[in-house]
Amino acid sequence: MLIMGPPGCGKGTQAERLSRRLGITVVSTGEVFRDHVKNLTPLGQEVIVHLDAGDLVPDTLTNRVVRDRLNQNDVRVGFLLDGYPRNTSQLAELDFILAINGHALDVAVQLTVDDAELVRRMLHRATMTGRSDDTEDVIRHRLELYHQETEPVASAYSQRGILLSVDGMGSEDEIFGRLLAALRASFPRP
Ligand code: AMP
Repeated sequence: MLIMGPPGCGKGTQAERLSRRLGITVVSTGEVFRDHVKNLTPLGQEVIVHLDAGDLVPDTLTNRVVRDRLNQNDVRVGFLLDGYPRNTSQLAELDFILAINGHALDVAVQLTVDDAELVRRMLHRATMTGRSDDTEDVIRHRLELYHQETEPVASAYSQRGILLSVDGMGSEDEIFGRLLAALRASFPRP
């Protein structure tokens, strides 16, 4: 499965909680890139400008990272992708990666939050974590990119009938409860 939503919607937090509850590994492209930046790897040095500007990392790099990660053994039984795909060409790449491994996506969860609340949350997060891409200009740019590039991905999953939209307003616990309820309704246990 995957989780998507605008920057600041809380998808990272909810992905971690879902991972613990459901026992599936999270693959977060944002986390992978931040780790590379922190560890000063060659990839980190290539991607840092994009992260700091709030731009998408070029597809060639991002797709390679995801392809390599999804070929590892620990995700054979399933995974929760956080932050990928973010545009329609990444979506096509994910279809390809899954198809060659004989897998298919069960569900794409989308968290929805209005823009004013997102900006408020991210400015708050900036004071807590000091993420270099949580300044107001960069935040607005990342939101714009989400609307332009990533919403078409949600539409595509909606057309395939696998999009589960969940209201991302409210407390972390409320949102997690809604997520679980929506997943249970879509995948009832026998
Ligand atoms: P996130 O933690 O998901 O908000 O991602 C943080 C940053 O990492 C983004 O603003 C992008 O610069 C980069 N990034 C993460 N995922 C992707 C992706 N799928 N495609 C391109 N860039 C990405």
